[in-house]
Amino acid sequence: MPRKKENVPSVLKLLSSEINLEILSVLRSGSFNPRELAKILGKNETDISRRLKALERAGLVEGRWIRFGDKNVRRYSLKVDGLKVNFEPEGIKVAAAREEEYTPTVVKEEAPSVEDFFGRESELKLLSSVKEPILVIYGMAGIGKTTLAAKAFPDAFWYPVREGDGFEYFTWQVGLYLNRLGYPDLIEYLRAGNIEEREVFEIILRGLEKTGAVIVVDDFHRCRDERLGRFIAFLAEKMKTGKVVVLSREKPRFGVRGVFYLKLDGLDVESSYELLTAKGGSVNIEDFAEVYRLTRGHPLALILFSQAYPGSVDAAAENFFEFLLEEVYERLSDEEKLLLQIISLFGEPLEYEAFKRLYGEKSLFPVLHSLLRKGLVERRSDLYFIHDLVRGFVERIREVDEEKYYRKYVEYLMGKNEEGAFIRAFEYALRLGDEELIKRLVELRLRKFKRLVRSFKGPYLKVLSAGRGNPYVDLELGHLYFQNGFFEKALETWLEVKDKVEGIFKADVLTSISDVYMETERLDEAEKYLMELKEVAEGSSDPEIRLWYYMMLTKFYYYREEPEKAMESAFTELKILREMGDNPELESIVLLHIGDINSWMGRPEEALKHYTEAMEVARLHGLSFFENLANMELAKVYYHLGDHRKALEHSSRAVEYFRRMRNYRRAVDSLAYRCVSFIGVEELERAEEDAKEMVKIAQGSNYPLAWAGYIFLAAVKNLKGEPWEEYLALGREKMEDKGYLYGAVLEELSRVFDVSAFREEG
Ligand code: ADP
Repeated sequence: MPRKKENVPSVLKLLSSEINLEILSVLRSGSFNPRELAKILGKNETDISRRLKALERAGLVEGRWIRFGDKNVRRYSLKVDGLKVNFEPEGIKVAAAREEEYTPTVVKEEAPSVEDFFGRESELKLLSSVKEPILVIYGMAGIGKTTLAAKAFPDAFWYPVREGDGFEYFTWQVGLYLNRLGYPDLIEYLRAGNIEEREVFEIILRGLEKTGAVIVVDDFHRCRDERLGRFIAFLAEKMKTGKVVVLSREKPRFGVRGVFYLKLDGLDVESSYELLTAKGGSVNIEDFAEVYRLTRGHPLALILFSQAYPGSVDAAAENFFEFLLEEVYERLSDEEKLLLQIISLFGEPLEYEAFKRLYGEKSLFPVLHSLLRKGLVERRSDLYFIHDLVRGFVERIREVDEEKYYRKYVEYLMGKNEEGAFIRAFEYALRLGDEELIKRLVELRLRKFKRLVRSFKGPYLKVLSAGRGNPYVDLELGHLYFQNGFFEKALETWLEVKDKVEGIFKADVLTSISDVYMETERLDEAEKYLMELKEVAEGSSDPEIRLWYYMMLTKFYYYREEPEKAMESAFTELKILREMGDNPELESIVLLHIGDINSWMGRPEEALKHYTEAMEVARLHGLSFFENLANMELAKVYYHLGDHRKALEHSSRAVEYFRRMRNYRRAVDSLAYRCVSFIGVEELERAEEDAKEMVKIAQGSNYPLAWAGYIFLAAVKNLKGEPWEEYLALGREKMEDKGYLYGAVLEELSRVFDVSAFREEG
């Protein structure tokens, strides 16, 4: 549909904003409300809302009001898949289209732009011919690794490693990137709160092969998370198309297979001369010879020299770099010196927005750009940082008030409302040793970033370790122990903290303690702390605390096998949740629980109703994981009701999703129901396919239920009049020590197949 000409400039203007393009590409993987989008993109919600409205006016996205509990929420989805811009004699025409294929070209983490580039012809030639999937470029700081990689792979996705970052950051960034390239699997997987190492590896591998993407991992020597190294070694073995380029100061050890190593030295004489004259004008030939001897073509040293030139070249200087830096630094203005000192306080690259907070807006732009030009500050997309060599120097002469800037930075990070920024804020708060600030952060985590202790447990643990002994930090450490399966250690920690904290913190500790006791089936102790929690909840007007109490209560009755009471408590949870609003994930979980309780009480119709509702809530909010949990449960109930067609419909969706997410356990659970439903509708070939797939998964994973594939296969063969006994024997052998499971499988199968044939055999 061609647009009216008047709209053209505004559409193009909207598209010239990187954030708008990011919004559009995220919307590609589903529909979202402004808050979720803000979270995913690490941006301010009001700003995202405003942008969405503008995009909607331009006809690029579609907003819909949906009733959610007793609130209306606006959700946005993509209205077009692409735009075609035509330059015609009568003017520019933009046409929107909904097509199957859509390739967004702009990404945020782009390669640094290379303006002046000299020499390196042989290296570039070599790099373009390398067959190995992993390419390592190593060499000393400032030697030109980044510049070379950016020149050789201008379209790559750039991932600069920061000291504290864990593998989780990497996966999220790559997830967003691959999503833009039309591969949403990783981001869907992560949004469900999953982060299983092997699954993530496989999903990224598939994404890279499918899209042929190139990823550059810059400054790999900073990496403290072994998983990134393991991941690269994994790709070296397996990847066929796609490439990962690793830049590092030290030579990393990924083995030999699939890895190409290139050690980088300085520029040759001619290129060095060109670089020097391009940066600083003419150089005296004798001086040049001397400088080349001292620098051996090291580009950063050459650039610094050009800034200090003309001046006396003190060849006798003990450290030539130091000497150059001093020369250059002395010539800086006071503003430049201040800004440089501020940057050197931070071990991580900073965004322009952060500078506004730290330095102020006045004269920021010209000062920053002057430092960039002088080679003291570097820029990568919207991040600015100083070279480690320069940092070392500035640190020694720095005289700014650290505390003041760290405080400003923490406030800035907290305002970003995003997990990664939150963890960094915590790091600085601990460095400041400010108890109030730490408390505020923990409260923020408890209310806003509930999932962080699961999806970012590695990096969070690393940061928290520095604050051990502080009750609020210990409370958080307890959560991480719990997530890692160390229940007793978690319990010990929380019992220790319990009487040192108040309010929401106390409520969290009591909730957690009774939860561990329930998980470890010590119901009497669980009850004791639940009663204490009840007291806190009743004395508080905080809905969050009341919600926690009822969540624990439901679970408690569930464990105590008192379904009526569990049901009542679950409905109270739902009520509180809906009053609080905007918590679709918990809402779909509670609805799933209510479905479970109904199933358990033998009320399939009620169960269907709540599972369906859980599915709807999850779907509307793009929570695919919960949507498909609901699909699986629905399949089960429909199967029990004898509605095999419906069971097939829901189990197929779940199978497709969990397979794609490499969640083989859930894939098997859903496959099992689809297989028996196929038997139910006498589609034996398809049933056989599913049974065989289960067996295949069993062979790879030894997941007990997957072995039921043999039993289903025996049933199918029996129905087809083919030999079947051998399959049954295999199934029995594999499930021998799982008598209970075997019984349950036969019982489910008996709904569509006369299992007495099996019994006679045994
Ligand atoms: P590294 O990544 O090895 O630390 P960089 O690529 O950041 O080094 O290079 C350091 C400085 O030298 C940068 O300012 C960069 O612009 C400059 N530089 C490096 N290689 C070249 C080159 N081939 N031509 C021009 N400038 C270069």
